[in-house]
Amino acid sequence: MGLPIVAIIGRPNVGKSTLVNRLAGEQTAIVHDEPGVTRDRTYMDAYWRDREFLVVDTGGLVFNDDTEFLPLIRQQAMTALREASAAIFVVDGQTGPTSADQEIATWLRQQPVPVLLAVNKCESPEQGLIQAAEFWELGLGEPYPISAIHGSGTGELLDELINHIPVVGEIPENNEIKIAIVGRPNVGKSSLLNAFVGEERAIVSPISGTTRDAIDTVVERNGQTYRLIDTAGIRKKKQIEYGTEFFSINRAFKAIRRADVVLLVLDAVDGVTEQDQKLAGRIIDEGRACIIVVNKWDVVEKDSYTIYDYEKSLQARLHFTEWAETIFVSALTGQRIEKILDIANIAAESHKRRVSTSVINEVLTDAVSWHSPPASRSGRQGKIYYGTQVSTQPPTIALFVNDAKRFNDNYRRYIERQFRQQLGFKGSPIRLLWRSKK
Ligand code: GDP
Ligand code: GDP
Repeated sequence: MGLPIVAIIGRPNVGKSTLVNRLAGEQTAIVHDEPGVTRDRTYMDAYWRDREFLVVDTGGLVFNDDTEFLPLIRQQAMTALREASAAIFVVDGQTGPTSADQEIATWLRQQPVPVLLAVNKCESPEQGLIQAAEFWELGLGEPYPISAIHGSGTGELLDELINHIPVVGEIPENNEIKIAIVGRPNVGKSSLLNAFVGEERAIVSPISGTTRDAIDTVVERNGQTYRLIDTAGIRKKKQIEYGTEFFSINRAFKAIRRADVVLLVLDAVDGVTEQDQKLAGRIIDEGRACIIVVNKWDVVEKDSYTIYDYEKSLQARLHFTEWAETIFVSALTGQRIEKILDIANIAAESHKRRVSTSVINEVLTDAVSWHSPPASRSGRQGKIYYGTQVSTQPPTIALFVNDAKRFNDNYRRYIERQFRQQLGFKGSPIRLLWRSKK
């Protein structure tokens, strides 16, 4: 978990979204809902040298009369900055510093994150230096002339940026496994939690900071600590206030984001519903490890084909069952409940796993010799130069290729399958980043 976040700040029209798109390359956006802000923020996966981070466009900072920026928007920018490791303040080199830029700079200087100043729209190198120099007056250190459209200057900016953001993996981690229990109302989440806790006294610890509405339960088995993120207990108290739907989705989304491993709890009688698919989609988007827990197995009439049939119907309705393990349990009788934690150990381990560059390239060489990358109509063939794992949780592998567009979905899935077949990663999603190297 926890890629460093870089917030992009600035007035409207200075080129923030152009810069975000340039940094994120062809990666698709992950949209996160943030309760308390009026619009969703979009986090994009970005990457420079061997470092990965998320960029978030904070939206334009709009001023009401050129002197004060609107409180709500200030609030949004603050929220974005609070979770950021660094910020890039984008200004327009063609217009020069404005009073609004001054205002934002004054505010940014009071924020506890490092700020880099990107002077955008500097297409010509000599002109750019002159344009950029005007921005020293903002008091934010060296202005970096860039052109978000052409990409010039962004290398210097990013070289400096990665000095200010933590290296993933060096972020101190303890070895507790965070497990979110999510599912529709009444599938048995609370019962499952109680089954884990059993007779032993649970240590209930409120999480410090912003997530006031989550209470975690910590349990221990064989020296391993599990933090169970409860989406059921508090919902019960608050659903009178907010209605059930609000919590079943939003609370679940928040819990998924905090977890290492998500237990997607289904009701054996109801099977997979649309809400379950929605949760599954979010688990994939967030790159969490997952176990599909089919609860209330005690009420299903069984013969020797039941599990097999059931698994087939799950596969049809949840497309990630190829890597997530399914377990059939009863919270009521306790059947196979402890097994869930064993599987969670494996999934958490896969999720944190790091594979050396040489092994990755062995798999790639093999995969390519069995099945070469597709060629375009003009006969130009896709070529994979090399791959390297850039982060964990989930395991993320960057593939450097001549032209990412030449690799269609079929071939991408084939490569992913090869990684899974050769390297495992049981219970965890893996991500492949296809990077064109020109
Ligand atoms: P945002 O509102 O800050 O997100 O700005 P956009 O990214 O939407 O860009 C605003 C306008 O500036 C668009 O018309 C872009 O084409 C233009 N623009 C963005 N980056 C550059 C650049 O590097 N050079 C020039 N000349 N124009 C740019
Ligand atoms: P939650 O809303 O997801 O937290 O669900 P609860 O844990 O409150 O359970 C909803 C209902 O399902 C309760 O009446 C439980 O007793 C029942 N239930 C939970 N687990 C099982 C199970 O494994 N088997 C059966 N037969 N009933 C269960």
